Amino acid sequence: MRILITGGAGFLGSHLCKRFLTDGHEVIAMDNLLTGDQRNIQPLRKNPAFRFIHHDITHPIEYDDELDAILHFASPASPVDYLELPIQTLKVGSLGTYHTLGLAKAKKARYLLASTSEVYGDPLVHPQTEEYWGNVNPIGPRGVYDEAKRFAEAMTMAYHRTHNVDTRIIRIFNTFGPSMRLNDGRVVPNFITQALLGQPLTIYGDGSQTRSFTYVSDLVEGIVRLLWSDEVLPVNIGNPGEFTILEFANLVNEMTRNAGGILFKELPTDDPKQRRPDISKAREILAWEPTIPLGRGLEMTIPYFKGRLHEL
Ligand code: UDP
Repeated sequence: MRILITGGAGFLGSHLCKRFLTDGHEVIAMDNLLTGDQRNIQPLRKNPAFRFIHHDITHPIEYDDELDAILHFASPASPVDYLELPIQTLKVGSLGTYHTLGLAKAKKARYLLASTSEVYGDPLVHPQTEEYWGNVNPIGPRGVYDEAKRFAEAMTMAYHRTHNVDTRIIRIFNTFGPSMRLNDGRVVPNFITQALLGQPLTIYGDGSQTRSFTYVSDLVEGIVRLLWSDEVLPVNIGNPGEFTILEFANLVNEMTRNAGGILFKELPTDDPKQRRPDISKAREILAWEPTIPLGRGLEMTIPYFKGRLHEL
């Protein structure tokens, strides 16, 4: 199969490129390198089944050959990034989704949208099931990402219902692992780099807010299973192990033997208070569940950050 991955030079995109190449497919990574990093795909360049196209998908996409599948993973994805790039975030979630869906329709390709637990906003239902419609502030600073992804889901369903495009929607919960940007501002890179530098970990708020962290290889397996399944409606993929940010900080300090302690900072606007996926649907229809607990995932991630610390 020939598979196009937008955001192919990003954290998740580059892991997907690797996985589909390993599975014997041809892969085209498309990225404008706004938050993606060429180094993530450098090792793939020598593979004749791999191709990189530098393109901003908020502009129309011209691609002559056939395509079997399109995975739309392009977007700034860290709150710090989308606060800095609000219009690009809205454009890639709206125009980027529109252009990639148009391409899927023209090529009769299967389409998978990377959506997010952010569609649930600051959730009033816990854990979050796919049936929950969410609690999103459209005009808050996070709204640019949340609403772009909600629009993207609506557009994907419209192309499915109107044009019969064979679509999939995955709702991704906090994911971590090697290839994350050191300074992307999310809690995992922040805490690990701070800990390795012997600094205090910056907890926003009192640290009582919760998140559920998925190791990247578990996520990738979920994506592959969903792509090859026939489920059109959204599916949560995430690890239901739920931690307060304070618990997470203590774990990172313990694992890195950091004596820097903790520094409390102001909680960002609209920061969700709790987040945990209900993965009954993924278990049932994909026979998927995460296999890597948080501690094990951190053991595999900390050395990656150590190796790149000199870049800071
Ligand atoms: N957070 C924190 N310190 C940091 C970065 C993030 O306490 O240095 C908190 C943030 O306020 C949020 C949680 O960690 O409650 C997860 O933040 P992240 O930016 O990773 O992603 P989110 O789940 O909010 O999209």
